Amino acid sequence: MTDTKNPQGEPLGQLTFDNRLLAHLPADPNPENYPHQVERAAYSRVHPKHAPAPKLVAYAKEVAELLDLTPDECRSETFTQVFTGNQLLPGMDPHATCYGGHQFGHWAGQLGDGRAINLGDVKNKCGEHWTLQLKGAGPTPYSRTADGLAVLRSSVREFLCSEAMHHLGVPTTRALSLTLTGEQVQRDMFYDGNPQWEPGAVVCRVAPSFTRFGHFEIFTARGDTELLRQMVDFTVRNDFPELGEPGRDTYIAMLEEVCRRTARMIAHWMRVGFVHGVMNTDNMSILGLTIDYGPYGWLEGYDPDWTPNTTDAQGRRYRFGNQPQVALWNLAQLANALYPLVDEVEPLKAALDVYRTEYQSCSQRDAAAKLGLPEFRPDTDADLISDLQQVLQLTETDMTIFYRSLADFDARLEDTEDDRSDLELIDPVRPAYYQEPTQGQQQRIAQWLRRYRERLIQEKVLTGLDQESRQERMNRVNPKYVLRNYMAQQAIDAAEQGDFTEVHRLLELLRHPYDEQPEHHAYFARRPEWARQRAGCSMLSCSS
Ligand code: AMP
Ligand code: MG
Repeated sequence: MTDTKNPQGEPLGQLTFDNRLLAHLPADPNPENYPHQVERAAYSRVHPKHAPAPKLVAYAKEVAELLDLTPDECRSETFTQVFTGNQLLPGMDPHATCYGGHQFGHWAGQLGDGRAINLGDVKNKCGEHWTLQLKGAGPTPYSRTADGLAVLRSSVREFLCSEAMHHLGVPTTRALSLTLTGEQVQRDMFYDGNPQWEPGAVVCRVAPSFTRFGHFEIFTARGDTELLRQMVDFTVRNDFPELGEPGRDTYIAMLEEVCRRTARMIAHWMRVGFVHGVMNTDNMSILGLTIDYGPYGWLEGYDPDWTPNTTDAQGRRYRFGNQPQVALWNLAQLANALYPLVDEVEPLKAALDVYRTEYQSCSQRDAAAKLGLPEFRPDTDADLISDLQQVLQLTETDMTIFYRSLADFDARLEDTEDDRSDLELIDPVRPAYYQEPTQGQQQRIAQWLRRYRERLIQEKVLTGLDQESRQERMNRVNPKYVLRNYMAQQAIDAAEQGDFTEVHRLLELLRHPYDEQPEHHAYFARRPEWARQRAGCSMLSCSS
């Protein structure tokens, strides 16, 4: 399609588009771009807003590769113009999709892509489809009272975190590029009547699809079973083709598969200490991808009750330890949304059980793997693991440093006796403590380490597990480097001054989160004290 407002772009490499949603689902008959309810349609065609002075901040080469884009192409002016929304390539057909959602436990009606615009689906050389989506490229019919824009701080956070998560092995949407629009955007970061002007930015997100639970909920809430069926059939065909032709059985199988994938995603979050912060059903991907990086955060001190989201500080619905439960609640909303097509409760309930079983097995396997154990043995490991949860909460204990350092604990597998003192035993994990543990705490920690040692001796007898292979196994699941909240904030502070080196450095560091990177050892450290109460470091709002 040729854009009348924007000049026709130079082709970027071999990018070819196959825009499936547009081809198969009905469009909003109202072509005007102002906030409105979009009935009996799945999307609205809309143009990105013109950016006065686009500038590339960073791009992710691995994501460019998925799209068959070369580094030279990514550094071209065309790339910057296209991925800030100023220029359309042949085959692009920009649109925003309609969805609803449960926010903080309550049905919120139509939400939709209020500041996301899909440019189209790239079909790459391998035949894979990748949807390109600009976040922050201007208002759409779903923007309600907001401006459709995004600021640099939240865009840096989304860009870096989605790539960091991918390299950690966590399913996630990807980020191709981060650009500045050259426009200033006003935000009241803490909703306290102090709006500030901030640099506007756009992230180009990339995923096989951006379909959310809310894409189904909206049609069911409106009683539009016909469009619900079209949406589900479309999703089965394009996102779950392995399930076969759409029909009642495949709808149930699809729900089971969403349950399975969601369980795996949540288990990964719990493994690496990620808190999403806004697990509303409109922020849940049907593909089990982490989506919509807003006021997310990383556990520093291990605390299941922690949430970075100040908007959720009261109820703490989306606190770290509640994420597995909330995911199930969200899946139940999806099951409700599919009910009109299945017309029977039992198979939907059975599908939700798939979540429970899958989550349990993933989380047990991960908990064992974090200790270097090849498998979870219920008779010994359930207690060992739950006791460790207590030990981690005796005093503020950095989750990432604790697990990573635990690999250095010498279990003295050859010795029958271990006469080390408490202090000697805990020495390897001491860097994880924000304050020196008291004597009583040292005793508890050492006591747990002695039990851990016994378990490792048992494992040596059973499977021959030695110190070196345990260490190697642990270092594959316990990251050395994560995007600590203050690290992202430092990169943002510099970027707001026009210095992007820290964004680039973190992008590089987080490409190899499990590797020792001696030149970056400074990032393997507890959160500095100045960051404890600083906005952006431990407290974030939904304002972005
Ligand atoms: P979120 O809480 O970020 O997942 O957003 C919830 C809903 O608000 C979604 O429909 C978003 O598209 C919409 N939204 C969030 N921020 C903006 C914005 N600046 N402009 C327009 N819509 C927005
Ligand atoms: Mg959202």
